[in-house]
Amino acid sequence: MVVPGVEGAFSYRVPSKLAASALPGMRVLVPFGHRRLTGIIIRTDTAENPKATREIEHVLDERPAFSPAMLQFTRWMSEYYLCPWGDVLKAALPAGISLDEKRHWVLSEPFDEARLAEILKMYPDAHDVVEALKAGPVPPERMAKQYGFGPRSAMLKRMQDAGLVSFRPVLRPPKVKSHFDSVVNLSAEVQAEYGPDYLGRLRSVHEQHLLRMIFECGPEGILRSDLLKGATSARKQAFARLLAAGSLALRLEEVTRWDPHTEATPKISVPKQLTDYQQMAVEAISRSLERGQFDPFLLFGVTGSGKTQVYIEAIRRTLEMGKSALVLLPEIALTPFVWGRFYQAFGNRVAIQHSAQGSSVRFDLWRDIRAGRFPVVVGARSAVFAPLPNLGLVVVDEEQEASYKQEEPEPRYHARDAALMRARMEHAVIVLGSATPSIESFYQALEGRYTMLRLPERVGGAILPEVRIVQRFPKPQIEGEVPKEKWVNGEPPKKEDKPPKHEEPPILTEELKERIAITLKRGKQAILLQNRRGFSPFIICRKCGNLPMCPQCSVSLTYHRKGQVLRCHYCDYREPAPDTCGKCGASDWITQGLGTQRLEEELVKEFPDARILRMDSDTASRRGMHGRMVTAFAAGEYDVLAGTQMIAKGLDFPNVELSAVVQADAELFYPDFRASERGASLIVQIAGRSGRRAETGMVILQSSVPEHPVLQVAVEHDWETFVQTELQSRQQANFPPYARLILLRAIGKEETPPAKALLRIRRLLQTIGKVEILGPAPAMVAKIRELYRFQMLVRTSRADDPAGNHLHQAVRMALMQYRQVKGEPGVEIEVDVDPQSVS
Ligand code: ADP
Ligand code: ZN
Repeated sequence: MVVPGVEGAFSYRVPSKLAASALPGMRVLVPFGHRRLTGIIIRTDTAENPKATREIEHVLDERPAFSPAMLQFTRWMSEYYLCPWGDVLKAALPAGISLDEKRHWVLSEPFDEARLAEILKMYPDAHDVVEALKAGPVPPERMAKQYGFGPRSAMLKRMQDAGLVSFRPVLRPPKVKSHFDSVVNLSAEVQAEYGPDYLGRLRSVHEQHLLRMIFECGPEGILRSDLLKGATSARKQAFARLLAAGSLALRLEEVTRWDPHTEATPKISVPKQLTDYQQMAVEAISRSLERGQFDPFLLFGVTGSGKTQVYIEAIRRTLEMGKSALVLLPEIALTPFVWGRFYQAFGNRVAIQHSAQGSSVRFDLWRDIRAGRFPVVVGARSAVFAPLPNLGLVVVDEEQEASYKQEEPEPRYHARDAALMRARMEHAVIVLGSATPSIESFYQALEGRYTMLRLPERVGGAILPEVRIVQRFPKPQIEGEVPKEKWVNGEPPKKEDKPPKHEEPPILTEELKERIAITLKRGKQAILLQNRRGFSPFIICRKCGNLPMCPQCSVSLTYHRKGQVLRCHYCDYREPAPDTCGKCGASDWITQGLGTQRLEEELVKEFPDARILRMDSDTASRRGMHGRMVTAFAAGEYDVLAGTQMIAKGLDFPNVELSAVVQADAELFYPDFRASERGASLIVQIAGRSGRRAETGMVILQSSVPEHPVLQVAVEHDWETFVQTELQSRQQANFPPYARLILLRAIGKEETPPAKALLRIRRLLQTIGKVEILGPAPAMVAKIRELYRFQMLVRTSRADDPAGNHLHQAVRMALMQYRQVKGEPGVEIEVDVDPQSVS
C-alpha cells in the first residue's frame, strides 16, 4: 500500500470480511502512525506477511480508482521522475476525495463540570472554548485564530491535564462527494395500465405538461431537477399531486455536474473533405491503429495545414474500433473554438478537462471517464492521467509547448514524454503534432524512431504569409568600435565626459505603423506580440541610476501603469510607484524596456479609432476570460490584438491579415540552451496567425539584429533547416537530444547551506562516477521569496547512457546517501528530471 506524501510502501493485513473487496487500485482507510489516512492498494498477496501488523479498516471504492495499467504508469512516473509513488497517485486523482484524519481539540466524555469550575477561576476565557467544543471538534488553526489559544497555550494544557479536553485525530470527510438526483418515470402500475393514454385522463394543464416531458424522455426517465427547472408553484403542486397519487416513480441516481453546454461552443463549420496530405496522414495512422501496437508519429504540419482535422479523423477510426482516445492540448489552446470542433465531431462522447473546472465537476468527469462513459477526453497537461479504459490513440498537439512540463509540485513530469510512455504501456498509437516540432522529437523522427507525417501546405490554397524584418533601431555598437564619421583630420574623436543620453527607439517603426493602417483600412485585423506584461520592465532614476528591486527576490520590479504600482513578477510583491528616488531624492524616472501595457498605450495614441484588445496574464487570468477574449476578437469586436505569447498559440482567426513581433530579439537572447528554439518557435507561431484564408497575410518582425539566423528561419518558413543547425550546436555543447539532464536545485533561507548541500551531493556523485556535473551555482534568479536558490546540472551523454538509466541511478543513489547521513538543515532539494530550462 502507498500513502500520498510518504515515501515507500507499507504492508497491511486484510481482514477476512474485506478480502473480496480489497483489490489493487482501491483506496482504503488505514491506521498510519497516530492517525488514519487514505492509502492506495498497489498489490495484494495471499501469503502472510510478518511485517503487516495492522489492518485495513475500510475500503473506500466500489471499483478500483486505478486500473492495473494506471498503476504501472504511475509507478514508472515515480521512478523516472524520482518522486514518491504516492505523490504521483495523488496527482492522478481528482482533488478533495480522500478521507484523512487530522488532530482536533475535542471535549472529553463524561465531562467533569466541577473541574471546569476550578479552571474557570484562573482562565475565564475557557468558557468560550468549552462552548465551542460542545458543538464539535475544533481544528488547531481555528482554536488559535478565533479563540487565541495556540498550540502551546497554558490553558489548553491545564484542561488536557485535568482530563477535560483532548487533542486527537478526527476523521474528516472528503470535500468532494458524488451528487445524487432523482430520476422521474411513470410508475410501473400506470405504465402497465394506461401507457401514453394516461395523458388524456389528466385534467390539469400542469399535470399534462409534466407528463408530456416525461414521455419525451422515454424509458430512461428525466431528472427531477430538469423536470422542475423554472417551474411555477402551481406546476410544483401538480408534481406533488402526481407523486401522491402513485402515478410517478422516483429512483435515486448518481449524476454528473458537468454540462458540456457550459463550455460555450460557437458554431463551427466542418470541413467536408480531407486534403490529400491530410488523407495520407490519416491512412498511415489508421494502419497502425489496426495493428494495435505502440507506434509514435510526428505530424509536422505548417500553421493552418489542418492538423486538428487529422486528429479528429484518427479519433473517429479509433472509436469505430471500440477504443478510446486522449487528446492533450496546451491549456492556452483549450479555447471554445478548439473544444467546439471536438464537441461537434463527437458530441456526448467527448469530455473536456481544464483548470477552470471546479472540484465537483472534475470528480464527476473522472468517475465517468473511468466508467467508460466518455471514450474521448480532451484536456491539458494533467489529462495524461485520465483513467480512460482501453486506450487506442493519444494525441499531443503543439508538442513543443513548455507548458506540458509540470514545475510545481512534484511529480515534475513532462506530459508529452509521459504520454509516450503511457501509449507504449497500453499498446496505443501516439501522434505528436506541431508546426515547429521540438528539437528532441524532430531528432527522434530523423533517427527513424518516430514516423514523420508532413502537411506542407495550408488548407484551401492559402499561402504562407510574407515575412519582413524591419530594423527597429540602429545596430548596437560593439564596444571599442569607434564610429568613423567622428574622426576629424585623422584624429580620433575626443572622449566625451558623459555617456550619450540613451534614448529609447520608437516602439512602432514607420513601416509597421503603415502596415497596421492599411490593414485597418481594409477592415482586417492585426495581432501584435510583445512577450512581456506590465508597462515597462524597469524604471531607473536618471540621476543616480537607482533601479528599484524586489525586497524578497533578486530581480528588478516591473512598472505597471495601471494603479501606478511596481510589481515583482516572481512573488507578486507590490508597492506604489515612487515619486522621488529613494537614494538621491530626485524625481526624474525613466522607464526602460517595453511591456504590453506600454504597447497598448502607444497603439491607442497612434490609432485612436481602432478597437484594441490587450491580452496577457494580467487581463486574461480570470476564469473563462481568455476564452471570452478570443471569442470576441474572432467575432470582429476588436481590430488589434496585442499581447504576450498567449496570443500566438493555436488560434485560428480567419480575418487576421497582419501579425507582428514588436521586439523579436527579446525572444532570442536568454541564457538557456533552449532560448533559440523557443524564440524561433514563437516567431513562427505568431507568423502563422496571419493570412489563414486564401488572401495573403503579412508578418513584420521588428528587430535590432535583422541578420540573426533565427529570424531568417521565419522569413523562409524553414523549420527543418533551423532544426538541423540547432542540432549541430546541441551536439557541440552536449545538450539534449545528445545528452540526458537532471537538474538539482537546493533552496534555503540562508545563502551558504544550499550551496553546501549541493557540494556534498556532488562529491557523492563523483564517487559513483560516469556523470558530468556542472555547478553548483546560484540560479539565474538567485533569490525568490526570500529563499536562496542554487542549482547543479548532472549530465550523461546519449552515446554512453542511451536510456539515461545510469544517470537516474546515480542521482537516486547520491540523494539516498545524502539523506541517510542527514541532509543540510533547512535546505530543500528539488529534483528536476529533463528540465525545460536550466537558467
Ligand atoms: P492547424 O492546427 O494545422 O494550424 P487547423 O486544424 O486549425 O490547422 O485548420 C485550419 C483551418 O482549416 C480550420 O479553420 C479548419 O476548419 C480548416 N480545415 C481543416 N481541414 C480542412 C479541409 N480538409 N477542408 C477545408 N477546411 C479545412
Ligand atoms: Zn519578488
